Amino acid sequence: MRSKTSLTQKILIGLVLGVFFGIILSKLPSGFIKDTIIINGILRLVGGIFINSIKMLVVPLVFISLVVGASSIGDINKLGRVGVKTIAFYLITTCIAITLALIVANIIDPGIGLDLSNVIKKEPTIGTAKSFVDVVIDMVPINPIASLANGTMLQIIVFALLTGVTMALIREKAQPVIDIFNSLNEIMMKMVMIIMLIAPYGVFALITNTFATVGFKAMGPLLKYMAAVIITLIIHAGLTYMGILAGLGKLNPIQFLKNFAPAMSVAFSTASSNGTLPVTIETMEQRCGVSKNIASFTLPLGATINMDGTAIMQGIAVVFISQVYGIDLSLQAFLTVILTATLASVGTAGVPGVGLITLSMVLQSVGLPVEGIALIMGIDRLLDMCRTVVNITGDAVCTIVVSKTEGEFDKEVYYAKNE
Ligand code: ASP
Repeated sequence: MRSKTSLTQKILIGLVLGVFFGIILSKLPSGFIKDTIIINGILRLVGGIFINSIKMLVVPLVFISLVVGASSIGDINKLGRVGVKTIAFYLITTCIAITLALIVANIIDPGIGLDLSNVIKKEPTIGTAKSFVDVVIDMVPINPIASLANGTMLQIIVFALLTGVTMALIREKAQPVIDIFNSLNEIMMKMVMIIMLIAPYGVFALITNTFATVGFKAMGPLLKYMAAVIITLIIHAGLTYMGILAGLGKLNPIQFLKNFAPAMSVAFSTASSNGTLPVTIETMEQRCGVSKNIASFTLPLGATINMDGTAIMQGIAVVFISQVYGIDLSLQAFLTVILTATLASVGTAGVPGVGLITLSMVLQSVGLPVEGIALIMGIDRLLDMCRTVVNITGDAVCTIVVSKTEGEFDKEVYYAKNE
């Protein structure tokens, strides 16, 4: 217990020191020591090793944990019930998130009176987003081994769920394989704990690097847009999530924030829900008292399809771009945005920056110019870090609520003294 606590504190210290040193570094003149030794040398080395180590765990962890989750929920009715609750929670909260974003954006008017000339420097290369039908078709893997090798998350999830459910259906005959998967799951969780030992240094290096290299100058004209996104993220996390925790879950939200802080710090520094997944699962099981069965099902699914923070950015970006280009949006257009941004959030992979690419699908759905993305590209990294924290917080709150309603929640662990 002691060492767990001090690790959390160390990660938070790494985060704060990273912001501090990053800002100082950004003010120093470029030169051999700053650019070659510090930024591209030490910081890149430590940050790179940390990020690769946690990414290394993602594919085996998602696959193993979903197989274990689906097979150990066992009873197919229960699996169906948990699945429906989880997906309903994810979709409803995402709709709330975009609605909040559209309201806040229409109050703040982030794009009114913006001078574009400082911002557009170069033509962006913008990826094209897939249609929803293609997203669904592509969820079914033709070759599951290739999906695992390429880290195609939705395909891995479909194959893992099918494997787990099949194992549950023929329980006795599958018992040896179920035992192997349970044991593999233990190994993965231990590996996460080992890798988390370097997290404070990794977080420090990643954050210092981001703050040292992000162009603060580019931010000036976009401050209103950034403020609108951050305010909505805070409202959604503070009112929607904490309200659900207190209201539906009857739990103290402050305690949740204390318990979940390690995962939030890693999400902030990596800007990747998938990358954070190993830490999210470990934190939820060890510090938040949710059952392993539920967590190993809801969290990998959430890290792939539930992106409320991303949806918020997309809602604000739609209003921002429409105002900058002087295009009025009708009520019907806003409803279309709610629908397409929810689907875009399902189709957004939990890795850095993808939310901007799926934004093109949302823009197209209401006839806004996709080139508008160029305006917000330069400052997206910082917002990506913030929205990823909200993305994983949504997964965590859903997991707690589903665990509680299934009677698989340990209040003592949740309220255990972690510091
Ligand atoms: N970085 C986000 C995540 O991993 C996705 C995005 O919005 O780009 O959750």
